Amino acid sequence: MNSPIYSVDAECRDCYKCVRHCPVKAIRVENDHATVAPEGCILCGRCVGVCRHSAKRVRDDLPRVRALLWRDANVQVSLAPSFISEFPGIRPAQLASALKKLGFAGVHETAEGAERVSQVVAELLDQANSGLFLSSACPVAVDLVVRHQPGLASMLTPVMSPMLAHARMLKARFGHDAAVVFIGPCIGKKRDADRSPDLLHSALTFEELRRWFDCCGVDPASLADDPGYAAPGTGARYPLEGGMNQTIRDFLKRRDMDDALVTVSGLERIASELKTLERRRPGQPPLFLELLACEGGCVAGPRASARNAVAARLDVAAYARGERPRAPAEVAIDQTWHPEPVAEPDCTEEELSDTLKTLGKTQPEDELDCGGCGYNSCRALARAIRNGAAERQMCVSHMRQLAQKKMNALARALPYGLVVADAQLRILECNERFGAMFDETLALAYASKPGLQHADLTRILPFPSIFRSVLDTGREIIRKSVKVEERIYSVTVFNIEPHSVVGALILEVTDTEKRRQQLIEKSRSVVTNTTKTVQEIAYRLGQNSAQSELILNSVIELFAADAPDPCGREE
Ligand code: SF4
Ligand code: SF4
Ligand code: SF4
Repeated sequence: MNSPIYSVDAECRDCYKCVRHCPVKAIRVENDHATVAPEGCILCGRCVGVCRHSAKRVRDDLPRVRALLWRDANVQVSLAPSFISEFPGIRPAQLASALKKLGFAGVHETAEGAERVSQVVAELLDQANSGLFLSSACPVAVDLVVRHQPGLASMLTPVMSPMLAHARMLKARFGHDAAVVFIGPCIGKKRDADRSPDLLHSALTFEELRRWFDCCGVDPASLADDPGYAAPGTGARYPLEGGMNQTIRDFLKRRDMDDALVTVSGLERIASELKTLERRRPGQPPLFLELLACEGGCVAGPRASARNAVAARLDVAAYARGERPRAPAEVAIDQTWHPEPVAEPDCTEEELSDTLKTLGKTQPEDELDCGGCGYNSCRALARAIRNGAAERQMCVSHMRQLAQKKMNALARALPYGLVVADAQLRILECNERFGAMFDETLALAYASKPGLQHADLTRILPFPSIFRSVLDTGREIIRKSVKVEERIYSVTVFNIEPHSVVGALILEVTDTEKRRQQLIEKSRSVVTNTTKTVQEIAYRLGQNSAQSELILNSVIELFAADAPDPCGREE
């Protein structure tokens, strides 16, 4: 089965936004395309959320589930408790009716599985004298631990996620041939489903469910309540930050652990807390951390609607309020977690500094750590380049320096005066030839400020109107001859950013023009003399000389076609 998050290379604009937002840098850039590296990806879904070009997508499992419903009558839904904030204004029993209309045989809340998880974790904690316990309810947080902080994998509580626990409960209730489909806000659950096909057929997101309702014209708000729909129990608090801990407290027998049940939500916070806890001394009193990858809990899951977080929280809290702890079905939900470290070859300081040099960073102060490449530091980018996960051209400052060097070399080598100006006719760049082109004052100004950045072109150039015309119309002017006093220039003005930045190549062609004018004058006198002679001969022979005259005149016009425009100094 394909990874639940995949890349569409053709849509990628190599902006590195996904790299910047990926908390574990599980995105490789190859041939200018950012691709998800499945071995490191923890399915947090951030890259999907931030990519404005839809180049990162979530696998669509709807076709598989619809095909399942066509061939199988015993398909049960495990519905994540955050549905209450996802479909505000719709009664849970109405949503159950809508799901049955799609073809499901029964609809049940995952809250039931969550209660069983809390019960088993409470039993573990009741017996614990010491140690760190990490919740295993959120698959993204679990993957963060086993893949990126594998030293802590053994601290994960040896229990399944509420989704898998619930699937096992449903199978026990409806028979082992029953198929279970989970529906919730989470992308990470798709991988859990892929890994446990014996328990779960698929995990759909709320986004997929909405699409399904839309395409089948099912409107839950218009349906009557499903009479068989059961109350959720205290597990309904799970999608809220702290909800799992509250439910564990309901089952805990000891009372000395109330303050040792701590919630940490948000991947960055989890990663930094775990780093400090790695150093926790053995033998310290038991501490349980409820880990939620999404800040605020599953109500803010990656495939939940972008609702106001406070309103969503209030909806879920109101729904769960008043629910009493109940005794969940005693199914076995044990699960062992193993470290799955992501292989990252180490590199020596020497190798790292060699790579930094190829990025133009030879001194510590060259390391800007600007984050433009998507990595937090120049060293992190250099390490990724060495590991084949990144490319040199991702360094924006290096590419800018390189472009500037190329531009300078080209400008130096050009036999033309080169000037680049913005829409206000301020100079952005010019070469030395341009500086020496008009008068001594300009040459002195260039000597004191090479490049003449920000200088007013209208005060320097005798023919700024040509630039203005290209900026206004966007139509380029190619090799126009312009006369300024005794001098003649060949001027080409071209677009760099139409209507906002133009460039010009200017060549003084006074001598060439003079020679051309002389040639025209000489040709004209030759034509006049020849015409006279031809007319005389024609007169004597009685023939028409008009055709010969036409041919000779067209030769002169050809030479004269590019006669320079006179152009005085403009204000
Ligand atoms: S966010 Fe990532 S996938 Fe999307 S266009 Fe930018 S680099 Fe490509
Ligand atoms: S889903 Fe998360 S971990 Fe995976 S590549 Fe995207 S941002 Fe990175
Ligand atoms: S906190 Fe987010 S990632 Fe974790 S289970 Fe909930 S929705 Fe999924």
